[in-house]
Amino acid sequence: MTKREFFLKAMQADEYRRRAWVISAFSLIREGMEAWKNDAYPYRIVQTPSGHFFVDPEKGNALTLIEDADPKEPPLKIKDHIELKVGETPNAYEDVKTTYGNVLFNFTAIIWPFGKKVPFVTGRVDAGKLEAYVIKRLADEPKSGDPVPEAEAQVAPIYVSEYLKFCDAMFYLAGFTQLCVPAVTRKTMQAPPGLLALRKKLLEENKDRLNDPAVIAGIMKKLIEFDKEYLKDDEGANFLITKKSYDVVRSKLFLMHGAESGLGDGVEVDLIQNSLSEGWDINKFPAMNNSLRAGSFNRGAETMLGGEAVKWLLRASSNMTVTQEDCGARLGLEIHVDNDSVHKLPGFSVVTQDGHEKIPDLEAAGQYMGKKILLRSSMFCKLEKTDYCAVCVGEKLALSPTALSAAIAEYGNIFLLLFMKKMHGSALQVARMNYKTALI
Ligand SMILES: [Zn+2]
Repeated sequence: MTKREFFLKAMQADEYRRRAWVISAFSLIREGMEAWKNDAYPYRIVQTPSGHFFVDPEKGNALTLIEDADPKEPPLKIKDHIELKVGETPNAYEDVKTTYGNVLFNFTAIIWPFGKKVPFVTGRVDAGKLEAYVIKRLADEPKSGDPVPEAEAQVAPIYVSEYLKFCDAMFYLAGFTQLCVPAVTRKTMQAPPGLLALRKKLLEENKDRLNDPAVIAGIMKKLIEFDKEYLKDDEGANFLITKKSYDVVRSKLFLMHGAESGLGDGVEVDLIQNSLSEGWDINKFPAMNNSLRAGSFNRGAETMLGGEAVKWLLRASSNMTVTQEDCGARLGLEIHVDNDSVHKLPGFSVVTQDGHEKIPDLEAAGQYMGKKILLRSSMFCKLEKTDYCAVCVGEKLALSPTALSAAIAEYGNIFLLLFMKKMHGSALQVARMNYKTALI
């Protein structure tokens, strides 16, 4: 039997749910020659020096050879290509060129929970996008006795119980990190060759401006690009998928410790040129200690400030309510609609010649793309004292007329989050800010 045929049969027989099977399929294992006889489950792989065999349920559990598998390699590889025809998996609605790893993922995290409902997912999978897709189709569980609505599998509602199975499956996949995303490779364990020379050159070029955070951010950016280029084709790059892996972790460890701002409020920074792997530069001992104190006591104290701001805002705004439908304000916030601001518009209203026009959804918001609009805003509400109208505060806030203070306290939550995030390692970067779009 060929690898492909064997793999698909084992998948159909739910072997993806057996962790031992998955590990024996995608890696080389070593077990006693007779070990399989103690538990001869269907499609159990028996790796021997002369070839990979499996327990064949179609032949009374006798061993069958996987013909095209090289005994010196794992029977299957996550990244090997496979072409599926329509119907070869329950959710393959069209022919698809994919990999063994993707097929394993689909059986585990898509087909097991959702059956035919979610079409085959291929390429690098984004858990967040999958969740967003599921949420769009999520429906309450039909009560027992209720008629289950009939629908084509691809548009049928997805139930909470199915979503929970999906979550279980995603957690189960974490058990295969060693097969798919090895963290330790020769390259991930060291700095890119040539780094010291590049760093020296960049520092030399900017030697008079090394206490300017923007200059250091520029140097860090170049070093990080150099590091990324070095790791581009490495297996370990599949593990280093978060921004933080490069911008913070590898940066401090291998590239350059970077700028330390210490405990004060000033904008000047102290640059520590050594990376942690090169050892401590004892001349910078005070800066490093300041960094430790900033990361421990100081961030704790700042986090407390954020918490205090939340409390203060909650109390100061607790009387605010939405009391009327429309105050009739003719003023609004001038906004240039672009990709960054368009998603904030649904639920708000545009000031028009003779009143206002509500933007019900993202599609409607799209017609203002690239244009300047006057958006009704709580900043211009005409109602007295702490009252606001539903049009000015927008649809979402108006749904809970006495809960405006929860939204106001969000400002404090953002301070809190910023301080807390900073405590967990942050990278120094420069970014362009457009204050006009940042204001809505
Ligand atoms: Zn108003």
